[in-house]
Amino acid sequence: MHNHVTVGNDNLGNVCGGDLTINSMLPCKNGDGMLSFEDYQRMPYCNKCIGVSRYRNEQRFHFYSVFVGLVISALVMALHWIVTGGLPRFLLPMFEDNFLAPLAAPLLSTAMITVVILWLSTIIFKELADRYNNKYFSYHE
Ligand SMILES: [Zn+2]
Repeated sequence: MHNHVTVGNDNLGNVCGGDLTINSMLPCKNGDGMLSFEDYQRMPYCNKCIGVSRYRNEQRFHFYSVFVGLVISALVMALHWIVTGGLPRFLLPMFEDNFLAPLAAPLLSTAMITVVILWLSTIIFKELADRYNNKYFSYHE
């Protein structure tokens, strides 16, 4: 069965469980916070819900940043391999005459470049996530 709901002066609707009159404060769409009618019109979610959306969005962008960073690293290494016939070995001088140098230098050089690319990608995507959050998930004042 449905009960009468009055929202403000002219918005009408139905809920189950009992009559409900909401004058100036409204529940957010998830029902875990109350908003003024103006805020509800602007964005029908409370700050708690918006905080969850912001966090999820950050996680999503972080996932993209790792993916993009790894793809770019792979492309850089592939390009290096095509141009020079092998992986980068700029860390070779570090190893002097160590017998592991021929193996370790390219591996560590590659790892270092990958870490730098991932780091840059993370910074860029963090900035993009912040901009997106501020545009689409701004908090109610
Ligand atoms: Zn909420």
